[in-house]
Amino acid sequence: MSRAEIVVDVAAIRHNVRVLKRHAGVPMMAVVKADGYGHGLLETARAAREAGADWLGVASLDEAIALREAGDRGPLLAWLVVPSEDVTPAVRAHIDITAYSIPDLDRIAEAARTTGLRPRVQLKVDTGLHRGGVPMSLWAETAAHARALEQQGLLRVTGIWSHFSSSEEPDDPANDEQEKVFREALDRAAEAGLRPEVRHLANSAAAILRPSARFDLVRCGIAMYGLDPAPGVSPDLGLVPAMTVRAELAMIKPIAAGGSVSYNHRWTASAPTMLGLVPVGYGDGLPRHASNRAEVWVTGARRPVRGTVCMDQVVVDLGQAGDDLPEPGADAILWGSGALGEPTAQDWADAAGTISYEMVTRIGGRLVRRHVDSDVDRDTDSTSAKETP
Ligand SMILES: *Cc1c(COP(=O)(O)O)cnc(C)c1O
Repeated sequence: MSRAEIVVDVAAIRHNVRVLKRHAGVPMMAVVKADGYGHGLLETARAAREAGADWLGVASLDEAIALREAGDRGPLLAWLVVPSEDVTPAVRAHIDITAYSIPDLDRIAEAARTTGLRPRVQLKVDTGLHRGGVPMSLWAETAAHARALEQQGLLRVTGIWSHFSSSEEPDDPANDEQEKVFREALDRAAEAGLRPEVRHLANSAAAILRPSARFDLVRCGIAMYGLDPAPGVSPDLGLVPAMTVRAELAMIKPIAAGGSVSYNHRWTASAPTMLGLVPVGYGDGLPRHASNRAEVWVTGARRPVRGTVCMDQVVVDLGQAGDDLPEPGADAILWGSGALGEPTAQDWADAAGTISYEMVTRIGGRLVRRHVDSDVDRDTDSTSAKETP
């Protein structure tokens, strides 16, 4: 057992992919950007493909190339390319590249000349998120330009897509508005002569909550890792969180009434109690904002974090000395699937005032990551230091 580790159950990822595909009823893109939301790019991608993910989606070309180098040959989309980047390796690797502008299209067409291949391009239209993508004011012109390059044999427009701002709040009128604009954009693209293989708009929350937005493909990230994209809103689909963060309790000690804990003494014992030292801190990605708020599971109970979360460690309250007092070396689960009653990444996100996405993506630091497969009850032997995205 490691000092502190991230354990990822690939069986949970496979289960979640199957559940989501069945629920959405259309093909699915498994989103594995940012090192698979902290779960491991390659292991997550492999589990998702095994469970029937039709596409993989990543942000950067580097992530997409890493998947190809690991042997993935299936449909694969990358959506964040910068102007100085050489797209020819991605074209050679048959990666679908997203274009946000006419200059993007021209750079991709240039790669057709150097490679002799016909690049696969997906156009992203900005339907109101106002982040990446072609603004509607330039859409008709951009679609016409893409069609002209297509007719010259310099690329193929394989997809048209967009992204919601507020899909986890299904009653927000922005959702209806964005979907309407997306349909308009598809009409304009068809008028320009584009015939994409896939049109897609929905992330996890929309895949679960908004059937009208499913089109040809849903792009699921967070839900595939078993976390709820819309806490309190989503139906219970039986998703299983794949990540557990655990550590070995470093020590236990008594504190007297009136004693205060951790930096700046932000918690004071009102009665004598026992403290436990958990060797994980913000240097490993724990949120300091969860000071005095989060809980850690130790020997069958949730133990409140006392005082400030430090760089390397956090102190929990084990309660009055009693029969259930843990020994040093006991297992301390910061978050897990929740099956035992332990906190989840969502609980830590609530404690820190953020979203579960940020919890799982940021955790790492010095923790060792280990993949297990609970379907076959053995380690897949792929222990790895977590790469920082
Ligand atoms: C990250 C991302 C997704 C996945 O979002 P989830 O809410 O995690 O399902 C889908 N599409 C795009 C463009 C993204 O950047």
